[in-house]
This record gives sequence, structure tokens and C-alpha cells, in this order.
Amino acid sequence: MWSEELTNARTQTLSESRCAGGRSPSLKGLLTSFILGCVGGRCIQVSLIFGPGYGKRHLNWIDIKGLLLVCLIFVPLEQLLALRPDQKIFRRGWLTDVGHVFATGLLIKFGLALAVLAISLAAGHLIPAKLRAAVAAQPVWLQFTEIVLLADLGFYLAHRAFHAVPVLWRIHAVHHSIEELDWLAAHRVHPIDQILTKTASFLPVFALGFSLEPFLLFALIFRWQALLIHSNVRIGYGPLRWIIASPQFHHWHHANCPESLDKNFAGQLPIWDLLFGTLHLPRGRMPQRYGTDDPVPRSYLAQLAYPFMKRDCDTPPCDDGDLRRTRWVGPFPSHAGAATPRSSADSSNSRNGASNISARR
Ligand SMILES: [Zn+2]
Ligand SMILES: [Zn+2]
Repeated sequence: MWSEELTNARTQTLSESRCAGGRSPSLKGLLTSFILGCVGGRCIQVSLIFGPGYGKRHLNWIDIKGLLLVCLIFVPLEQLLALRPDQKIFRRGWLTDVGHVFATGLLIKFGLALAVLAISLAAGHLIPAKLRAAVAAQPVWLQFTEIVLLADLGFYLAHRAFHAVPVLWRIHAVHHSIEELDWLAAHRVHPIDQILTKTASFLPVFALGFSLEPFLLFALIFRWQALLIHSNVRIGYGPLRWIIASPQFHHWHHANCPESLDKNFAGQLPIWDLLFGTLHLPRGRMPQRYGTDDPVPRSYLAQLAYPFMKRDCDTPPCDDGDLRRTRWVGPFPSHAGAATPRSSADSSNSRNGASNISARR
């Protein structure tokens, strides 16, 4: 779901605005735009935030039309190709996730706009203009390929860090708390999670000065891809499943069972998981159970506050499984005792968390 915010943050600027004016990039402009967006102002000129280079394009803080389009496509799709036909459209927690669509979406857009503004200003001083010009002068197809590779590598590393570092995992656990996956579940994310992950992912893309067209193409594809890989659909990709992230690939990332613990971090390209040894794509099998053992609350505001709430298990010893996802063998720091299984009974139950529900190939 990240491309939607990025598109809005930097480049949802394709639509022409009826507004007039334009200034230099400024924090004041961003704050003004955000406040206007919160109170319903739709026609917010991007040049107010990022400078006159964006002309009369506008920034849409709340995209109702886009959401309706997503509903019109994914609700029937999940009925026609349901992986779990018994799962209801209004499944448990759907109202909380609607809160994430609007409120979290708004916070993410603001945070990303701030990050993009900072990266753009810093890159102008730190990255040689000749290099940025050379990057932007490449053919669109080549820039697109480089953006996909760079952005997804950044996403992989940031995502893996959110699983590895306990304080980050508490933020990311909100996303993993979903127990019935569908397109709406893609929106259940803590704003700090998405702002940091996407900033890390797009840092090289913005800093190196790629041109707008290939980035827009990538952002558009990623938006729909992110919804699809969370959706309740039985769609197999055949041999392409090793190249493009599929619903099966990401469903296993959300599985609550040991065999898929800390696997499938990539957003687009399973090749990163293959290279780093975290790929889990069992042929013909889908997980039976999703979620996390972490005690993530169910209401929207409580989920926002969850990472910052003090709990008893902050004082060791604690064996509630809260850190069970922090097992780590990669380039990030490991955490002693983090991979301790909760109990043999729980492990046994979790091992049963996979089924032979086949993906359509
Ligand atoms: Zn994750
Ligand atoms: Zn997910």
C-alpha cells in the first residue's frame, strides 16, 4: 500500500489543479497544505510544498475516488476467486482497518511528504548534480528497472529491521495482528512503520534524482500489488512466483507458524529473500492461520498507542512470546533470547498452522 502514499506525497501531481501560485520548497508550505487537507481542502498545490517545478499539479490528501475504485475491483475479485470462501466481507476488525485507511493514510502522507522534502533538500547539497542528471537521462525502462531493484532492496532491509529490533517489532506487530487477510488488511499499518519503511526504501530513489515517469509507473504498480498480495484470493503465479511477489508469498509472511517465521520480507521481488536466505514458498500449500501472538489491541486508537504502552513483559523474565519474531541472523544486531519459543504446546499448535490449500497455478 505504500506506493499510494508516495504517489500522493511527491507525485500525485499528475492531476491538474485549478489553484494558482507557487513557492520555494518549505516546511511552512507542507504544514499549511496538511491543515487544509485535514479540513477538506482538496485543491492543494504541490508547488506550495516542493517548489515551482511542480507547476499546477495538486496533492490529494484524502482519495475517496481511489478507494471506491479499489472496492469495486477487489470486493468482487475476492468473491470470485476466494481463497477462503467462508471469510466474510465485513470480517472481524474491518471497521478498525477503515480507520487505518483514512486516519493512518493521512498521517503517512504527511510524514512521507516531510521525508521527501528533507531528502530533496539534502540531495541537492550532497549528491553531485552531474550524477543526478546522468541518472535522469537514462531511458525510462532502465530507470524503472533500477527503481524497482533499489526500492525493493530498501524495503526488504527496512522490513527485516522491523522484525529484528524489538522496539521496531512492537510498531510492526500492528500490521501482523490481522487474522483474516484481505485487501483491506493491507491498510492496517502503524504510521511510523510505513513512514520509516518507505523513507528507507525511497531514499536512494529520490536522492539519485530519477525522473518522474518511471517512478510514477513503479508507484502505480506497487499500490495495486500491495493490495493484491494481501487479498483473499486464490491466484497462483506459476513460475512467475519466484520473480514477482504473489498472494501466496505474502500470506506466508503473515502466517502464524514457526516454519514461516521471519520469511518473505520483500515487497515486490522474492529474489531478495532468495539471496538473503529468507524465502519460504512451499509448493501447493497456503497458511492456515495468520496473526501474531503479541497482544495487539483491536481498536484503532489503541493500536496507534500500542507500541508505546508499557507492559509487564518489559521487565524480564518474560515468556509471552512478544519477542518471538526477533530471531535474526542477518547484518542487523541480534537480540539475546529473542527466539525462545513460547512453549512446546504453542509450538505444536503453531506447527499445525499450515494447510494444503493450494494456490491456483
Ligand atoms: Zn512483516
Ligand atoms: Zn502485509
